[in-house]
Amino acid sequence: MFTQNASSLWKAVLGDLQLRVTRPSYETWLKDTVGVSSSSGKFVVGAPNAFVAEMLDQRMYSLICGAVERVVEGEVDVRFEVISPEAGRALVRTAPLNGNEPPPAPPPEGATQLNPKYTFENFIVGGSNELGHAAALAVSERPGVGYNPLFIYSGVGLGKTHLLHAIGHRVMAAGLSVIYATTEEFTNEFIKAIRGGQAEEFRDRYRGADILLLDDIQFIIGKEQTQEGFFHTFNSLHMAGKQIVISSDRPANSLTLLEDRISSRLAGGLVVDIQSPDVETRLSILSAKAEQLGQPFPSEVLKFLSERVHSNIRELEGCLNRLAAFADLASSAITLDLVKRAIADIIRPSSARRISQDAVIDAVCSYFGIDHDTMMGRRRDKHTAMARQITMYLLREEGNMQVTAIGRFLGGRDHSTVLHACAKISNQLNMDSHLRRDVLNIRESL
Ligand code: ADP
Ligand code: MG
Repeated sequence: MFTQNASSLWKAVLGDLQLRVTRPSYETWLKDTVGVSSSSGKFVVGAPNAFVAEMLDQRMYSLICGAVERVVEGEVDVRFEVISPEAGRALVRTAPLNGNEPPPAPPPEGATQLNPKYTFENFIVGGSNELGHAAALAVSERPGVGYNPLFIYSGVGLGKTHLLHAIGHRVMAAGLSVIYATTEEFTNEFIKAIRGGQAEEFRDRYRGADILLLDDIQFIIGKEQTQEGFFHTFNSLHMAGKQIVISSDRPANSLTLLEDRISSRLAGGLVVDIQSPDVETRLSILSAKAEQLGQPFPSEVLKFLSERVHSNIRELEGCLNRLAAFADLASSAITLDLVKRAIADIIRPSSARRISQDAVIDAVCSYFGIDHDTMMGRRRDKHTAMARQITMYLLREEGNMQVTAIGRFLGGRDHSTVLHACAKISNQLNMDSHLRRDVLNIRESL
């Protein structure tokens, strides 16, 4: 009998496991798991996606059971489940996927902390970012002279912070003093200074810099007092001919609630944006990062990723890191097959790939050893019903069909039957590793 609740129990188990597995294994497989429930000798662990659940089940089962049993001091049956995206959202953000975040806030009075990896040398230039890159380079070569302020904006994960740090490295190497701060840090420091009656010191510190790199200015929105502080700092640096570089996740003129005088100052310098990289740039970025990781990524894998992972560069990096970790733990080479399983939750189906309806039916029929007529007909034994439900699920997931169309296609079934089947399979996939394997096998045969 368990006396503790599942969550704290699992935390204790994780503590134990942390000592027994390597750090990469822990980070990849265990860090984002949670204790879901525990009752009458059954313990349910939640995993962030099906692949992790499967790997834990297949490769770490006895290790985990052992750890649970040590903690509860009794026999326990451990199960793995995929926790719902809602419940898992907070976890997803901290998954290793996020790759190389810049280091946390620098201490207010300490030396500027710049990520050593964020250099111009490591920045891959393509059509989407060449303007931003050129402007950043120009500014670091002749700070305060040409483009002042330089305002860089883009969506997340597209290289703003990287460029700001790159400027910082260059300028520091030339012997100039640099302050890099996120706008959040700037704000906190400012508020602290005002409270502590040290507004003057705050101003002096910032005014003493040759170049100010302020990241994520959108944080200042709605914070009037900070805007005031920023405006004065900005003005005195600007008037003294010091370089200011600012990044934002939206264009200067849409920084609503930013005082007009600030918006117009920002727009008065050079404004450049960074777009999402095109497929060639994605491929060159992937090749460069793969080389840095020092693991052999076959070119077909890189090509596949460049075609399927669209969102941003941080995610591209995250994919590579995750793959490297998976391959390491599974002691397998990095293959296309591994990629498809390891990052199934990220990749988008390519638009070229539209599985035909007949292909789905054929694949399921041959997997379950039933014939076409049975699939289309009215037989309702367990085996046939399961095969039919999986077909419905796959027609929707892989074939992108509407439920009504699926019903019509499968011998005139009504849409609520199809909906029910799709929901049932997708729920059960989270709990039933046999079903997961069946569906995976069928998917692969498609
Ligand atoms: P942002 O600040 O726009 O959200 P970051 O600068 O943090 O984005 O970039 C996210 C990740 O992608 C970082 O690890 C960064 O090094 C990498 N990155 C972005 N653009 C490039 C590029 N052009 N070449 C190489 N790496 C890049
Ligand atoms: Mg950033």
